[in-house]
Amino acid sequence: MKFIETRGNDGVKSKEVSFSEAILSPMASFGGLYSPKTLPDFGEEFLKAHIDSTYKELAKDVLKAFEIDIEDELIEQALERYDEFDDSENPVPVVKVKDDLYISELYHGPTRAFKDMALQPFGVILSKLAQKRGENYLIMAATSGDTGPATLETFKNKDNIKVCCLYPDGGTSDVQRLQMVTEDAPNLKVIGVKGNFDDTQEALKSLLASEEFNKALKEKNIKLSAANSVNFGRIIFQTIYHIYSYLALVRDGAVEFGKKIYLIVPSGNFGNALGAYYVKKAGVPIEKILIASNSNSILTEFIEEGRYDLRDRELIKTKSPAMDILKSSNVERILFDKFGAVRTKELMESLNNNGFYELTKEELKEIQSDFSATFTNDEESMKEIVQFLNENYLMDPHTATCIKAYREKREKMLPTVAYSTAEWTKFSPSIANALGLLAKNDKEALNLISQKFNVKIPHKIGILFDKKIAHLKIVEKFDIMREMLDFLEK
Ligand SMILES: *Cc1c(COP(=O)(O)O)cnc(C)c1O
Repeated sequence: MKFIETRGNDGVKSKEVSFSEAILSPMASFGGLYSPKTLPDFGEEFLKAHIDSTYKELAKDVLKAFEIDIEDELIEQALERYDEFDDSENPVPVVKVKDDLYISELYHGPTRAFKDMALQPFGVILSKLAQKRGENYLIMAATSGDTGPATLETFKNKDNIKVCCLYPDGGTSDVQRLQMVTEDAPNLKVIGVKGNFDDTQEALKSLLASEEFNKALKEKNIKLSAANSVNFGRIIFQTIYHIYSYLALVRDGAVEFGKKIYLIVPSGNFGNALGAYYVKKAGVPIEKILIASNSNSILTEFIEEGRYDLRDRELIKTKSPAMDILKSSNVERILFDKFGAVRTKELMESLNNNGFYELTKEELKEIQSDFSATFTNDEESMKEIVQFLNENYLMDPHTATCIKAYREKREKMLPTVAYSTAEWTKFSPSIANALGLLAKNDKEALNLISQKFNVKIPHKIGILFDKKIAHLKIVEKFDIMREMLDFLEK
């Protein structure tokens, strides 16, 4: 399968590229993204053949159906990363919580959030490709929480790849920070930055644009790549579990084979939802994809009204920080898929230059044939967490944003899968607070909740508080470059 560019071709880059090219050098013409030229068929025949497949068997055939230029052996090696999840036989439990509501738990990997679903296997593929080509890559990420730990975890001790994560000092939870700063390997660097997440992201942008830095990289023969959520190497692994969810409901007798279900996706950068869109288009019986947001409700406005408008918005810090996003990058791939490159370029340029774009009525109708959306504020989310605990299900604040969509956005009473994107252990202080438990810090909140509700704290989270800190550096923005150059010297 080939990949083409969402904003058209500039005459310099190739008009279409292979999967491996798209993931190693994800920057397309005019600031666009690479998107698949065609999609596989995941309709009746494919689904029938996989009703009883394990997650890994299904994953292998999904990747094969995309006809990517990655050898079977490497695909298998990548998928072995799912063996490190809690239950290697069933890495993604789909749990029934009400008669017509299932929760697909995407957080059973090593860093306890859904980023592992894609970053774990993606890391194996990217580093092997780099080794085969004899190339060295630097991956830099500014993170406010979940991407950092998952990126470090997947690339640690991998040849030909160096990773640097920048996080805002004081801007992550204790657990998220400890997951990063205790990750000790010679190819990893973690730097705390004085300032908030926006400052950190800004600092990374100016570093990547700096001539001095790029010259240093060139001299050391290091190429820049990215593992962010627009990399198609991540998106492809985020199609598998949507198919798996459908099959799990069929197996459980919740839906008759061929009949439709709803999916509810707690969304930020829209990577998870994009995976759902592709499998819907490829033939999986999905009535609609319901997009859940927090108070940063820009996606709700876009899907319900057809307007993507940054002008009057400021980022609101919420208790579901992984969804605190205003520029939701993967929406661009939906625009491209529906309206083509010329229109996508026009819309994205309007967003960059004027801070907004607006769809036509016909275009909005197109979007609404696949999506519907709503948002939930912190107070409402916390209430849902408490309510579900009464029914013995403990969910994190990101997952809790799904519940309003379940209650209000379904036009038909079809069986529904909501995605749980993080384990409660990553956001325990918010949950303790909602439950009226007094906790001074993450450690206390974890222990209180675990005792009160008789839930386990996974070993990997429990030991964080006693692990040696490997990365102590907290620097001003202007010191990041020096830190990086020192790191690359080693
Ligand atoms: C990244 C993340 C999201 C948002 O996913 P997108 O694919 O960016 O929409 C939601 N919840 C959690 C816990 C996350 O880490």
